[in-house]
Amino acid sequence: MNTSLNATLPGQPHIAYSGDQLLIEGVSLSELAREHGTPLFVYSKAAMLSDLAAYQRGFAGRQAQICYAMKANSSLAILQVFADAGCGFDIVSGGELARVLAAGGDPAKVIFSGVGKTRHEMKQALQVGIGCFNVESEAELDVLSEVALSLGKQAPVSLRVNPNVDPKTHPYISTGLKGNKFGIAHEDALRAYRHAASLPGLKVVGIDCHIGSQITDSTPYLDAMDRVLDLVAEVEAAGIPIHHIDFGGGLGINYNGDKPPEADALWAQLLAKLDARGYGQRQLMIEPGRSLVGNAGVCLTEVLYLKPGEQKNFCIVDAAMNDLPRPAMYQAFHQIVPVTPRPGDGVVYDVVGPVCESGDWIGRDRQMRVAAGDVLAVLSAGAYCMSMASNYNTRGRAAEILVDGTKAHLIRQRESAFDTFALEQLV
Ligand SMILES: *Cc1c(COP(=O)(O)O)cnc(C)c1O
Repeated sequence: MNTSLNATLPGQPHIAYSGDQLLIEGVSLSELAREHGTPLFVYSKAAMLSDLAAYQRGFAGRQAQICYAMKANSSLAILQVFADAGCGFDIVSGGELARVLAAGGDPAKVIFSGVGKTRHEMKQALQVGIGCFNVESEAELDVLSEVALSLGKQAPVSLRVNPNVDPKTHPYISTGLKGNKFGIAHEDALRAYRHAASLPGLKVVGIDCHIGSQITDSTPYLDAMDRVLDLVAEVEAAGIPIHHIDFGGGLGINYNGDKPPEADALWAQLLAKLDARGYGQRQLMIEPGRSLVGNAGVCLTEVLYLKPGEQKNFCIVDAAMNDLPRPAMYQAFHQIVPVTPRPGDGVVYDVVGPVCESGDWIGRDRQMRVAAGDVLAVLSAGAYCMSMASNYNTRGRAAEILVDGTKAHLIRQRESAFDTFALEQLV
């Protein structure tokens, strides 16, 4: 492993070696591991705010609302950071709505996405007055209208249209193609808008799309925007005004030399297209998740055992697929670096966790110089890690720390074994 000292890591401006210590902002990661144990998630507040600032710069002078897609990382203190910075939230469940409220978020800035909203979730969202329901099917329109009328309300709706563009990302995180379960097909959209406009419990306010995740190229966004604007023109020509246009999330981050466009550069291109087509002064919305938190977080894990083998050497660590599900789910790559590097070239290892599954791996074929007891940092672990963590193998979920300058705040206690079965009972 190549660890040059006194160097920031690629794509990780808030994480850097200083001497033989890896720091996140002004805090030593090995000290955090000593004090709080491992596995431990550590986030940089400055990294989140600087990633948000790139979008804010991109939208300077425009009417735009950034709704953080909180499924990327829904820990309360993370939501608090974004709420304080003026963000709204893109939610996908009633549970996420409860989290927004608990974190002090403004319900009027909440948009509710997802293909399977229940009546109960719709009711909950209508009662607190969320900003918009992003509806994904015609059947959902009927149910939402009915639920709204039963409360004597009108539900603000946007239709999630499926622009049928290929975001060229992993099939499990591509969502805007015809074969996906998401959204309303382009050719059905006008009919769905007419249907929505005819229902007494609904008020049409917008249009939205979300084509996938970890997108590293601006072309799919530009293509999707053309498709969405074509529909805006068609729907408005049919006498249904569209107040806001929501372009979803999906911008990728640098996991392994990936080179996604910066948010402000991407939006300079997209806004040029909006201006050219005469929609530049519309109310815009976006729903970024990963690009606001992914590179702001690391997961610290301790090396338990080194297990040399004929074909593979294994580095067995105390974090596992229940803490870091992305490699097992999507064959995803996370950089893994020592928090206190040792000199020398090292050995090639598969980094694996203790869970009883061959799919429980964190990194494959990594050259590292490590010994039992060393602490490793799994990078780019701010998004879709803790929020996807489980208790598989009755492993309590990790603790979480939010670093702000030289201060480290414990934002989630480590779950005990007792916590994992506290709601169960014997017969
Ligand atoms: C997951 C999701 C997002 C966020 O995606 P990222 O790739 O994390 O930016 C935005 N909108 C919707 C509807 C989503 O499902």
